[in-house]
Amino acid sequence: MKTSIVGFPRIGFLRELKFTSESYFKGEKTAKELLSTAKELRKKHWLLQKDSNLDLIPSNDFSFYDGMLDTIVMLNTIPKRYKELRLDSLSEYFAMARGYQGENGDVKALAMKKWFNTNYHYMVPEIDDDTKINLNYNKIVNEFIEAKELDIITKPVVIGAFTFLKLAKFSGEKTAYDFTEDIINAYCDLIKKLNEAGVEWIQIDEPILVTDLSSEDILFFKKLYNEILKSKGNAKILVQSYFGDIRDCYNEVINLNFDGIGLDFVEGKKTFSLIKANKFPEDKVLFAGVINGKNIWRNNYKKTLSLVNELKSYAKNIVLNTSCSLLHVPFTVENEKKLDNSYVKYFSFAAEKLNELEDLKMLLTCKTPFNNNEYVRNIKLFEEVRHGKNDFVKEKVRSLSEDDFIRSPDFYKREKLQKSIFNLPLLPTTTIGSFPQTKEVRANRLAYKKGEISEKQYKDFNKDKISECIKLQEEIGLDVLVHGEFERNDMVEYFGENLEGYLFTEKAWVQSYGTRCVKPPIIWGDISRKKAMTVEYSKYAQSITKKYVKGMLTGPVTILNWSFPREDISLRECALQLALAIRDEVLDLEANGIKIIQIDEAALREKLPLRKSDWHTEYLDWAIPAFRLVHSGVNAETQIHTHMCYSEFSDIIKDIDNMDADAITFEASRSDLTIIDSLNECMFKTEVGPGVYDIHSPRIPSTEEIVNILHKMLNKISKEKLWVNPDCGLKTRGNHETVKSLENLVKAAKIVRDEL
Ligand code: GLN
Ligand code: ZN
Repeated sequence: MKTSIVGFPRIGFLRELKFTSESYFKGEKTAKELLSTAKELRKKHWLLQKDSNLDLIPSNDFSFYDGMLDTIVMLNTIPKRYKELRLDSLSEYFAMARGYQGENGDVKALAMKKWFNTNYHYMVPEIDDDTKINLNYNKIVNEFIEAKELDIITKPVVIGAFTFLKLAKFSGEKTAYDFTEDIINAYCDLIKKLNEAGVEWIQIDEPILVTDLSSEDILFFKKLYNEILKSKGNAKILVQSYFGDIRDCYNEVINLNFDGIGLDFVEGKKTFSLIKANKFPEDKVLFAGVINGKNIWRNNYKKTLSLVNELKSYAKNIVLNTSCSLLHVPFTVENEKKLDNSYVKYFSFAAEKLNELEDLKMLLTCKTPFNNNEYVRNIKLFEEVRHGKNDFVKEKVRSLSEDDFIRSPDFYKREKLQKSIFNLPLLPTTTIGSFPQTKEVRANRLAYKKGEISEKQYKDFNKDKISECIKLQEEIGLDVLVHGEFERNDMVEYFGENLEGYLFTEKAWVQSYGTRCVKPPIIWGDISRKKAMTVEYSKYAQSITKKYVKGMLTGPVTILNWSFPREDISLRECALQLALAIRDEVLDLEANGIKIIQIDEAALREKLPLRKSDWHTEYLDWAIPAFRLVHSGVNAETQIHTHMCYSEFSDIIKDIDNMDADAITFEASRSDLTIIDSLNECMFKTEVGPGVYDIHSPRIPSTEEIVNILHKMLNKISKEKLWVNPDCGLKTRGNHETVKSLENLVKAAKIVRDEL
């Protein structure tokens, strides 16, 4: 039995690629230096995989920015506006990735989107009627040869034609079908070139196969591969799916002329039953994704061995594989020096997953696997009762009843009552929470962390900032104020650090987009609140003004979605534990005189399952109640707000309304406001604050511009329901643009208010 992985992290052991690229962007490093770092990294990563005795080592999984962007270059679909810049190829590549502003012109970057259900982002291909698809094969062949020179025959990896076209944006009259012939030719050429270079296996990634497909989609897929596979020559072609099962097209896929089929046994809930029901062809190799490529926990050898052994009676040829690319996990546990081994022994990052594949392969061939040391050690991990259990919390979750998820009185009664008590003007103005995190704010936090200043010094500084911030908001004339979030590094980490059950790593970075990485905290045990987390600052802020100051919390679903979750309890249970902890905080804020509480669910949409049929049963049916549990205990006169970092929620709009918040703010400034039509269609009851300007850019919106946008909104939203706010927190902005923008926002609201 052989082993394989779908892909490996490219950012490096210590994020070397990030730092070198960023120095190159700043002009501190030359292109040559960047290219040589990249080459070094590829070599290191291949050798590491070779040392772990991995049989099928991927190549072309390396990328300077993103694999989809590499495919855009490979298929020669670079949009005209970048070509017109007449840059060298590396600069042109980065112009697409990051935008270009310089002697040769001024162009924005390509759009970026979330890669399926991960926190990784890809660059969206743009295809217009003049686009000509043809092959530019350099990178993929060069990297294969580069590895060959190290005596490693790699398995080149490429994004497939079907996924590429399905994710592309077509801006003209033509559709994907108009490119059928050209894209077939391009992939045929590619396979030919790789054959000439001496490949054995080629991995073609088709993750789109795990999403809902129409019968036309499936016909199109078949058409593409009927043709592409004619050119395979000596190479063996693996079609690789991940992030789910291929229930819509399993039979079509196994009947095509592929040599290997990569299936996901981790997220693919139906993968095994598909195989059982439909058989797996004897002449093909099953690449069985049994090692979780997304989570950071050790594999359970007992379970995996029994799965693979059972699988053997359905598939003759099995290769042990990861469920998806290891891009989505950190590089290695070795970098974690501070965490105790009683935790670390449960962790498996990318490098450790290579060892797990090696262990499993050995165990599957050895005569007495159950006596093997590696096996025994692994079994023990899963038999041991992990510390971090909290029976009190478990019991609390177990004994929740329907009523705990329902806030009373109902929305309309609350709305009426709150309007009379708060007495806010029409079109009340507010912000999303954070104010600019200046250098001094971060320096203060760091000094405290390092023990250079006392707790009192640290807090006094923050309180001074709060009082400045409140004064500023009063001067600007905002109606509902915030404390500014100066104590928070990050909206999830801050709560994680203050909750029991969380672990933090030092270097467990995961690529999010381009050179940006995130370091998600780890949910280790049962979650509970150690002590009040936000009350002191909120109370202070409220004490120095007559206006209302919003208490500011992060919701349970967002905290969960931006953490590495446990595997030993369900996501639902974990979300409810988090909800109970945040609920305590909500009630504490209320008891301390905070009248408006905002519970951010910035990432609620992020983990929506890929298939519509799973949306409710697998996710929304617990995610929305988890949010409701957080605020169902407050009084009728306490106003609950929530915030979301996107506006594409037309398809789950009823669920958003069912969160039963009193008001919701969301990103809208860059959208075409079609969301507002959807709000009307579903008779959305929650009050809304669609962001009136884009905080992701330093640009200051004019008063007139905001007046216009408010007019547009008022055509469709009743004046009693509309809030006026920016589209997200102001943390990443500078002071100057923030003040100017907010002044214009308040002016605009006043102008429009006077017209009403
Ligand atoms: N309250 C948070 C802030 O203003 C919300 C951040 C977010 O939506 N990402 O920073
Ligand atoms: Zn936001």
